[in-house]
Amino acid sequence: MSILRVALDLPLPRVFDYSCDEARAGDIGMRVLVPFGNKRAVGVIVGLADTSEISSEKLKPAVRILRETPALTRDWLELAQFCSGYYHRPLGEVIFNSLPRALRQPTATAALKQASAYRLSAGGREALGQLPSSAKVKRGLLLTLSRSDCAEELLLAQSPRARKILADLCDAGWIERYQPSAAPGTGRFVEKLPLNAEQQQALQQIEAAGPGYAAYLLHGITGSGKTEIYLHLIAGALAAGKQALVLVPEISLTPRLEQEFRERFPDTRLVSLHSGLADGERTQHWLQAQSGAAAIVLGTRLAVFVPLPKLGLIVVDEEQDASFKQQDGLRYSARDVAVFRARQTGITIVLGSATPALETYARAQSGRYRLLRLAQRAVPQAQLPLVHAVDLRRHKLEDGLAPPVVEALQQRLARGEQSLVFLNRRGYAPVLMCPACDWVSGCKRCSARMVLHLADLQLRCHHCGASSAVPRHCPNCGNADIHPFGRGTQRLEATLAERFPQARILRVDRDSTRNKGSFARMLGEIQGGRADILVGTQILAKGHDFPNLTLVAVLNADSALFSADYRAPERLFTQLVQVAGRAGRAGLPGEVLIQTQYPRHPLYLALAQHDYPGFAHTLLAEREQAGFPPYVFEAVLRAEAAELDAALEFLRQAAALAGPPPEEITLYDPVPMSMARLAERERAHLLVQSVSRKALQAYLAAWSAKLYAQPQRAVRWHLDVDPIEF
Ligand code: ADP
Ligand code: ZN
Ligand code: ZN
Repeated sequence: MSILRVALDLPLPRVFDYSCDEARAGDIGMRVLVPFGNKRAVGVIVGLADTSEISSEKLKPAVRILRETPALTRDWLELAQFCSGYYHRPLGEVIFNSLPRALRQPTATAALKQASAYRLSAGGREALGQLPSSAKVKRGLLLTLSRSDCAEELLLAQSPRARKILADLCDAGWIERYQPSAAPGTGRFVEKLPLNAEQQQALQQIEAAGPGYAAYLLHGITGSGKTEIYLHLIAGALAAGKQALVLVPEISLTPRLEQEFRERFPDTRLVSLHSGLADGERTQHWLQAQSGAAAIVLGTRLAVFVPLPKLGLIVVDEEQDASFKQQDGLRYSARDVAVFRARQTGITIVLGSATPALETYARAQSGRYRLLRLAQRAVPQAQLPLVHAVDLRRHKLEDGLAPPVVEALQQRLARGEQSLVFLNRRGYAPVLMCPACDWVSGCKRCSARMVLHLADLQLRCHHCGASSAVPRHCPNCGNADIHPFGRGTQRLEATLAERFPQARILRVDRDSTRNKGSFARMLGEIQGGRADILVGTQILAKGHDFPNLTLVAVLNADSALFSADYRAPERLFTQLVQVAGRAGRAGLPGEVLIQTQYPRHPLYLALAQHDYPGFAHTLLAEREQAGFPPYVFEAVLRAEAAELDAALEFLRQAAALAGPPPEEITLYDPVPMSMARLAERERAHLLVQSVSRKALQAYLAAWSAKLYAQPQRAVRWHLDVDPIEF
């Protein structure tokens, strides 16, 4: 066997043959350096053969097989192959999409390093009480270690001086450095609270199922203690010598989670994988997972592809979250790939949510996933908040706030409790307007408005990032009297500061948390009781525990009720459940006020009754009637070009190329996307639907082969299978 079949990082649906004398059967899955054009490229060997269709004089020899890093396993290559087939993307693209950067380059210094950890000695515990408060970093490090052992990298992240101080503390005998056990199965699991009856029942149902593939939907209300179930399941997997993969939407939004996992598995090697890591770190974590040394991988969507030789459990938390779907390049759904992976590996997967995606819920209803319910809050005194609509037909708004909301805020201030005012729109105002000529601040590059940011006097496009100075006069008619219209979080913050001069107001959105570490700092301020009123977007909605928060006021939710996007109500409901779930988590009762023109809208009624199942059934019935997913399967062909006509024309030709569709397939006419222009590209798409996933897949396979065979042109195109953006 002297021919290598090599997948390269190219948008071409084929593999490339190279000759190689040193090839052995075990080289499948190895990286290899090959000549490509007049350059060299890294590829991955996906097959070996005796003969090639390329004539022997044209066949080039491979430069070198890169045996420094272990081969990707056959199972892993099969996973990549599945994604390549399902999403209709070249195998090389799928493989390289999931490799860390260092492994995509020939000069990878990607050897696996040993990670160390520290623990506190008895002497250190004693000394901690007597440290002067001026020794801030030292105290911080010891405090962390007094709660649990901790990985070196996390301690080093606490301060630039941490390395030196750790060495000093070791010398003094206050702490000890050690190598956490490499093998799963040996680490401790720290049990914190006894599981309640519901949690026990859910756990037992999963554990009773025994080995083999099984998919569960863990449908538990906010605060029902899903995390505790994940931790117990992981402990079970580790005890059986297996690795566990935990996928979460955005690690940066839940900084506590990683710490919690480390505290509960103090001797187990846990690595995180997300886009916030430096390249070198990410490579190290990836290699530790691949070698089996890391027993727990906690990551965002890209972690679904990490090689795990001893994978025994997958958890997907907040499985409905849109961030699991990659929206560019390889457009995959990490949740769906995770389910495939669990089936392929023959293991348990748990999808957790308070508001499952309708697709997932329908599968649980039909029995494809087993449904587990947690209907109670786990903290004994905690109650679900009371949800009330504030009828805007009866109450006049003053600066965006209805009197009952102002009153409720006042009450909380008087009682020393926290409130959250939720407005999912950052900036000062969503648009700047001229009343004389109706000019509005539009983005030159997108079909979108420029948002007014008063803090730095800029107009900014939230889609392409373009910004410009705020004009003094109307650029159209010269009128000097131009106004901000509507309100965003910055304006709300200013209004509240005026209304409640005595209150400490904290705004938490993408703008105020842009600097590294500022989000974690703000969470600390909230938890430490150093803020009275929080103004926040959805980044405050997820997973946080604010025990002193008793009021959530929701402004401006109505705009999503009548959206053209059929997924909008589902998203709104999820978002409101999440944000409402921040109130009343400890002993104090919580209240949620929703300002609305439609207090009797079924969505708000379901929310007030905490009735996800009822709401889901209504939406599913509507979807079935209208012929939307999950009752049909969809894909879109998207095209982008400098001119809209070119994009539409490309799609028309593509439709012609596909030929008349078979009976089970519906091919719609090409139309501009709902936001047609983005960053100077005009975007259009063509929707394909079928009631049969199999028929749709067969159709897409044949079609995409024809599309790839077309000559390259100025129009960029891609297929998006199971799209969520239109
Ligand atoms: P969810 O993810 O379901 O919204 P969490 O896992 O964040 O909920 O748990 C909510 C709170 O309940 C946490 O503060 C957690 O410590 C607490 N908790 C979980 N299980 C128990 C239990 N069995 N007894 C008491 N408190 C619990
Ligand atoms: Zn004007
Ligand atoms: Zn723009």
